[in-house]
Amino acid sequence: MSVVLKFGGTSVATTDAIERACRIVCDAPGERVVVVSATAGTTSALIAAARTAAAGDPVGAESVMTRLASAHDELLRKAARGDEDSAAALNDLAQRAKALVRSVAILHECTPRSQDAIVAYGELASSVIVAAALRAHGLEAEAVPATRIVVTDDAFGNAAPAFEEAYARARSVLGPLLAGQRVPVVTGFIGATREGVTTTLGRGASDYTAAILAAALGASECLIYTDVSGVMSADPRMVEGARPLAQLSYSEAAEMSYFGAKVLHPRAVLPAVEAGIAVRILNTFAPLEPGTTITARAIPDGSVVKATTSLGGLALVTVQGAGMSGVPGFAARVFDTTAAEQVSVLMISQSSSENSICFVVPANTGDRLKAALERMLAKELAHHDVERVTVERPIAVVAAVGEGMRGTPGVAARIFGALGRAGVNVIAIAQGSSEFNISLCVTEAEQVTAVRAIHDEFQDAPTTRPTAPRATAAR
Ligand code: ASP
Ligand code: MG
Repeated sequence: MSVVLKFGGTSVATTDAIERACRIVCDAPGERVVVVSATAGTTSALIAAARTAAAGDPVGAESVMTRLASAHDELLRKAARGDEDSAAALNDLAQRAKALVRSVAILHECTPRSQDAIVAYGELASSVIVAAALRAHGLEAEAVPATRIVVTDDAFGNAAPAFEEAYARARSVLGPLLAGQRVPVVTGFIGATREGVTTTLGRGASDYTAAILAAALGASECLIYTDVSGVMSADPRMVEGARPLAQLSYSEAAEMSYFGAKVLHPRAVLPAVEAGIAVRILNTFAPLEPGTTITARAIPDGSVVKATTSLGGLALVTVQGAGMSGVPGFAARVFDTTAAEQVSVLMISQSSSENSICFVVPANTGDRLKAALERMLAKELAHHDVERVTVERPIAVVAAVGEGMRGTPGVAARIFGALGRAGVNVIAIAQGSSEFNISLCVTEAEQVTAVRAIHDEFQDAPTTRPTAPRATAAR
């Protein structure tokens, strides 16, 4: 059985982090597949360099590229002194990326396709460095670009994998390496079209790569090493008593990631869910901590609300008027408009009187959407069937998540009681029929107070006890 170990940006960004990552890989039993992110900050720096070049500042762009290349060189020299082949490989990657940035500067244009080719440098460089470091630890490691494995469509910047093809390629590329006791170090985040053009799977998508490989290989576990000890019950910058959760179901994890808990890429959940593989979020810098295990189904542990997450920077759009009620297709027209404006809607609520529909969107899309809705509803507004379209902002959505909420009476009462005592005004509410997410809309000014109030109300829930033993004997 194989195990997939994915190391995020901060886990490969310093000599110390790489050393820790190497020890974790060395100590992991059985066949190991390593997946790496670009070093922390590199992807964003590469995107900035591409934009700078497109804006006609080749000197500025070049200096970013030079800085990144020397940071990578230094990491490699410290992690694997004297590995001249890797140094040459790293240099080739840097030269190629620089050439791409230069051509963007000449063209004054950076297409998503060019940008993907440029940002891929981050993960490619990491894989060379980490493979070299693992060899310095005595493992037969080998850098493997995911462009050879993860077949995708051509939606550059946010490409969708062709799963069956990617799975087949993962088995044919990685299988022989694993059989030969070798440790592949695969680039996260990137893929390629069938024609071989480099793509990326969306920001933060290295987890996705790890889950795809785990599913393809039928791995026993998919270990996601990051710089925190698992998924927290709330953002620790907001809530002092926030603590790592021992266990989450896939659905809970997905709910949470949509509402700002940045630990896991939402789509990363899917390939692993389907293959029934447990995903563990672990800390490279504290590998003995139990971390968070994400399983297909919730393990009942008596908890009700497991986590409280929130997302600010939003706007609440309300369409209001008595003439809307009982008119079939009205909501469809409203959401056709949001779709036509390419605005993603985070939360929807409609009262049963049907006198108003409100929904939450990113704050910076509010004005555009209001104008588009007013155009679409010009007739209804003129006839006063629709009174007004309003936009309130800045708004935050606070979500209480936990499968234990399903069928437990009184959860909403406790939430609202806690918010009432904290003096928080709830503007809108939504609960999915799955009953494990209650989302509330509050002003952004009250976001932190609301998160604290809900978290503290449910914090005695027994969610902190580890439920399963660690499979990896990390030091
Ligand atoms: N390096 C990519 C990013 O920063 C992917 C990842 O880190 O997961 O978005
Ligand atoms: Mg990352």
